[in-house]
Amino acid sequence: MTRKLHTRTVQKSDGRDLTFYGWKEHERPVVADLPPLEASALPYKRWHPLRHEWVSYAGARQGRTFFPDAASCPLCPAKQDGLTEIPSDDFEMAVFENRFPAFRLDAGDAELVGGDEPAIGRCEVVVFSADHGGSLGGQSVERIELLFELWARQARQMMDEHGLKCVLPYESRGEEIGVTLHHPHGQIYGFGFVPDLLMKSAEAQKAAP
Ligand SMILES: [Zn+2]
Repeated sequence: MTRKLHTRTVQKSDGRDLTFYGWKEHERPVVADLPPLEASALPYKRWHPLRHEWVSYAGARQGRTFFPDAASCPLCPAKQDGLTEIPSDDFEMAVFENRFPAFRLDAGDAELVGGDEPAIGRCEVVVFSADHGGSLGGQSVERIELLFELWARQARQMMDEHGLKCVLPYESRGEEIGVTLHHPHGQIYGFGFVPDLLMKSAEAQKAAP
């Protein structure tokens, strides 16, 4: 069966775009979401002489939401008594720019000190489901298909519209690896450069017989 993909892009209170993805059209009303944050320092990259690679620094991430209880989850649909990242009371899947990004498209405006470089890129959050519980592995096949469509479109946008060089979709799962929100979600990082590890992997693949 051929399904039709539907997307709907809306603007959040602080100006960031949010796109709903679904096999059904998203027709729910758009409501208020989290208010804008105070401006914070832009991320930058610094050369690490021992690792011999660039390392990014993003001080604004220190203020990110850290293990909220389920009632205060910022990735749940809008609730009657509280604002979240999602300006709607229901959705299939949603993607939006991270509120605490490690890379930004406007990072070129950062005030840099000797040798540092702007951390150009874009960090997006993908919310796999409106349900707070569960995991990516527990989603339906249709929902996983939707995620592949989302990854493909968002990656194309990052490379064609934003001129980024490398796109990495991934899911961090488990507190041990640094997850600070339990709601099923993943990330898409778009880099203005090809990270060293990926460059080496690509060279190794080319060299393989
Ligand atoms: Zn949640």
